Amino acid sequence: MAESANAEVGASVFIGLGANLGDRKATLRTALASIDQLPGTKVLRVSPLYGSAPVDAGGPDYLNAVAELATTQAPQALLQALQTIEKSAGRERPYRNAPRTLDLDILWFGEQVIDTPELTVPHPRMTERAFVLRPLADLVPERVEAALLQAVASQDIHPQEGPTWADQVDGG
Ligand code: AMP
Repeated sequence: MAESANAEVGASVFIGLGANLGDRKATLRTALASIDQLPGTKVLRVSPLYGSAPVDAGGPDYLNAVAELATTQAPQALLQALQTIEKSAGRERPYRNAPRTLDLDILWFGEQVIDTPELTVPHPRMTERAFVLRPLADLVPERVEAALLQAVASQDIHPQEGPTWADQVDGG
C-alpha cells in the first residue's frame, strides 16, 4: 500500500468495508488488496478494525473498517469495480440487509456530491452508523463532527485490532 505517483494525482476517496460471514478478516484483507490493484488506484490508509452488531439485519457480528484511497477512476467506474470485488467474495443479495460476505460503500469521493439512481455520495446513511463514523474519525478526526459521533455513541461497536490488521494486504 505504498503511495505511488498515480495516487498523488487521484481523488481522495473513503470506502467503508464490512463483512459478517465466513473468514471476515481475510475477506476484508483480500478486498483491500483487490482495491489496491485497480487501475490508477492505491489504498493509502486503513483504519483500525471494529466489530459491530448488525443494524436492521440478522446474522453474526460484522467486522468493519474504513480505507482511504487515491484513484483516477470515475465514481461510477469505481462503484462497478467495488461491486465486482463484492461478487468475487461470494456476495449474494437475497433480500435487503441480508448478511453479506462483503459490503463496500463509497463514503466520500473527493468533494463530489453525486445523486444518481446507482450512486449517492456522500453515502446517505453514513452519518447514522457508528461502524462508519468511528473508523472514519480514526483516519480524519477533523472531518467527523463530535456531535455526529455522540449521536451514535449508544450503538454496539467495539475495537478489535489496531490499523496493523491490514498489513498483510501488501504481504508484509
Ligand atoms: P448495499 O446492499 O447496501 O451494498 O447497497 C448496494 C446498492 O447501493 C447498489 O445498488 C449501489 O448502486 C447503491 N449505492 C448507492 N450509493 C452508493 C454508495 N455511495 N456506495 C455504494 N453503493 C451505493
